[in-house]
Amino acid sequence: MSALLEIRDVTKRFGGVVANDHVSLSVAKGEIAGLIGPNGSGKTTLFNCIAGTHAVDSGEILFEGKPISHLRTAPIARLGLVRTWQQTRIYGEMTAAENMAISARETNGGLVALLRPVPPATIRRAEDLLAFVGLHEKRDEKAGRLSFGQQKLLEFAMALMNEPKLLLLDEPTAGINPTLINGLIDRLRRANTELGVTLLVIEHNMRVIMNLAHRITCLAHGQVLAEGTPDEIRDDRRVLDAYLGV
Ligand code: ADP
Repeated sequence: MSALLEIRDVTKRFGGVVANDHVSLSVAKGEIAGLIGPNGSGKTTLFNCIAGTHAVDSGEILFEGKPISHLRTAPIARLGLVRTWQQTRIYGEMTAAENMAISARETNGGLVALLRPVPPATIRRAEDLLAFVGLHEKRDEKAGRLSFGQQKLLEFAMALMNEPKLLLLDEPTAGINPTLINGLIDRLRRANTELGVTLLVIEHNMRVIMNLAHRITCLAHGQVLAEGTPDEIRDDRRVLDAYLGV
């Protein structure tokens, strides 16, 4: 598998805090990669650097072999690299279907594009993806009235609207009822196998990430502490110590 995303020696500081300290990691096309590490280890900062929310201080980030570290969020999203957030970012007063349509437009020409009618192909894709995440019957309901888990599924479907090649998921299962988590994991896996989306997932729930990811990178104090298969990471003493704060 070739590298879809390559992070080379990235450092990001906030004043005296080195949030990412010479981090290198790569995500192969077609894989589900996990990113774990204790609180404050630099996971969110790395996501922000990849997605163009933060400028890196040094190092380089390549997507499909091309440098993207100098680009902002919107052009990066147009290349097919999309991130989701820990907090849901939906328009509660709009229906699920309208949120889907907006998601397509925000990356394809800004909010001004909202003034134009929604193309039939966008409507079809929105319908297909709402069905994919199991929300088709909720398409005309206001998004703010959906349950938290359903809102997360809607957000996931919104992220898929623009046919991302790589999706960065920030704690997709956070706050979700344990009985709904398996359904979400199943959707993430199917997005990978059926829709061909490569995933990089930050996840605190160890059961979820061990079950979902093909390969896991563990950060601690802004640095890559360990990397390997879920089995290797599970048995890695350094990872255990980092979580225990040793
Ligand atoms: P994680 O996502 O693993 O919990 P973060 O990337 O949020 O870790 O944080 C890594 C370090 O960078 C922490 O020490 C945090 O306080 C610091 N940090 C993150 N974002 C900012 C910011 N915008 N300003 C100042 N310090 C920050």
